[in-house]
Amino acid sequence: MHRDTDVLVVGAGPTGLLLAAELALAGVRTLVLERRCERQANSRALNLHPRSLEILDQRGLADRFLALGRTVPGWQFAAPLTTPLDFSVLNSAHPHALLLSQARTEALLEQRAVELGAQIRRGHTVTDLWQDAAGVSAGVTGPDGHTTVRAEFAVGCDGARSLVRRAAGIAFPGTEETFTAMVGDFADADHSDLQRPRRHGVLVSRLEHGLTRFVVMDPARMRTPSAEPVTLEEFRTALLRACGTDCGVARPRWLSRFGNATRLAERYRSGRLLLAGDAAHIHFPVGAQGLNTGLQDAMNLGWKLAAEVQGWAAPGLLDTYHSERHRVGEEVTARTEAQALLVELPQVEQYRRPARRLCELLDTLLGLDQVNQYLAGLLSALDTAYPPQDPTAHALTGRRIPDIPLTLSADGRRTSVHSLLHDGTMLLLSLADVPDASPCLPSSAVRPRLVRAVTARAHGDEDALLGLTEVLVRPDGHVAWATETKDPRELHAERTHALNSWIHAAK
Ligand SMILES: Cc1cc2nc3c(=O)[nH]c(=O)nc-3n(C[C@H](O)[C@H](O)[C@H](O)COP(=O)(O)OP(=O)(O)OC[C@H]3O[C@@H](n4cnc5c(N)ncnc54)[C@H](O)[C@@H]3O)c2cc1C
Repeated sequence: MHRDTDVLVVGAGPTGLLLAAELALAGVRTLVLERRCERQANSRALNLHPRSLEILDQRGLADRFLALGRTVPGWQFAAPLTTPLDFSVLNSAHPHALLLSQARTEALLEQRAVELGAQIRRGHTVTDLWQDAAGVSAGVTGPDGHTTVRAEFAVGCDGARSLVRRAAGIAFPGTEETFTAMVGDFADADHSDLQRPRRHGVLVSRLEHGLTRFVVMDPARMRTPSAEPVTLEEFRTALLRACGTDCGVARPRWLSRFGNATRLAERYRSGRLLLAGDAAHIHFPVGAQGLNTGLQDAMNLGWKLAAEVQGWAAPGLLDTYHSERHRVGEEVTARTEAQALLVELPQVEQYRRPARRLCELLDTLLGLDQVNQYLAGLLSALDTAYPPQDPTAHALTGRRIPDIPLTLSADGRRTSVHSLLHDGTMLLLSLADVPDASPCLPSSAVRPRLVRAVTARAHGDEDALLGLTEVLVRPDGHVAWATETKDPRELHAERTHALNSWIHAAK
């Protein structure tokens, strides 16, 4: 049967756009359908965390993002705490968060997806979706009326109320919203003493185009449902109550209410339908993890779905998307429930005093190096690892690989691990001269397009690769296999087994 595209991506938010770029990079025909006619001018998210910056770096894109934003050394674990997490101690080429509006992030991701050949059609709403043994069909309403699009797979990157999730029959269990907060972007605000609202737990950020963002929780209004619109008067009153001044806010450009509903899709895949981003997980936006988690879903899924479409995926590879990312979704939703409680309790009269004591205690703990290292590793997502099934696998298996400086043996050129991942292939990196065991790619298992084999010397003060003879890095920058053996026959056998367990040998 005729197919209009290989993969249909529903939704051009940050998750859908990065996924489209990843699929297009791998040479997969990709169509993104987005119901909005224009890109969103308002930004919910304002930042990218270290792991998101790393994955962009792995595609040679980080500089585009860094050029438009401002780096900050850390991020708030939860608003009432005064000690921010310090990312600067993390082992990464990007040990900082980047302040960049979601609108700009989306614009850059869209530019990338289009450059690589993905098609993005705005003003097209997917109204229904069904799958059969050979593919997926989507009913679409757009400027030319109602049409049907046929694809091999469809991915729901269509946000919290995902139609794809419902069409796939995937449950979205979790908890209802129990409190809400308000966000407002204002053209006018009094900047003479922004520390005052901050001292009283109001979040304040300077945005592009001269706007100032305030995020406030009002004990008198925190049980108002998120669907109820926010008025300027309500916002001013909330600021007055929180910090004794309305901070001169006027000319609002965006006023909204958001809540702590927390849900996680039961499965991330049902046959030919998959979910990523807010379609798969929602939670209170504390610690700035929603968009970041969505980008990391897209990075995990892109190459696996491309492998499935192109017929080189080892059996079960696409299912590892669910097993790896659903677990991360569980961790993020569980963590944000705890973080949200830290935001809520100081607003509730009966808990106000003990909640302050709890926050003081946590602030002291955050000052301890080990606590900071642990929580910063979680929030930044640099500690996200995908544990291997095989208990005898090398300890690095499943962990992300840092951007280690390298000198290529072939021509003495200086490069780095992340630079060698730009083209989205797997990387077979040989780090020790083992006679008769140069990293030849075995037989039909590997087409040059899929795996790049490189011999290099690691240097700098990195110790992550010390002792390794060879490492196979996945296109998303996680270690697929690593070994310290120097025995040529053993090395050859291990490597062949590793490649064959990721790549379908018969294709
Ligand atoms: C106040 C607030 C602040 C936040 N701050 C942060 C932060 O600092 N950092 C962070 O990481 N996260 C933050 N988040 C969360 C973040 O905004 C979301 O997690 C992120 O937007 C999810 O991206 P997405 O692409 O998965 O979904 P979305 O951004 O929701 O995109 C989904 C897209 O799908 C489209 N769509 C939906 N249905 C259809 C259909 N049937 N047909 C076609 N198109 C469709 C929609 O129009 C939309 O464009 C914040 C959220 C809020 C509310």
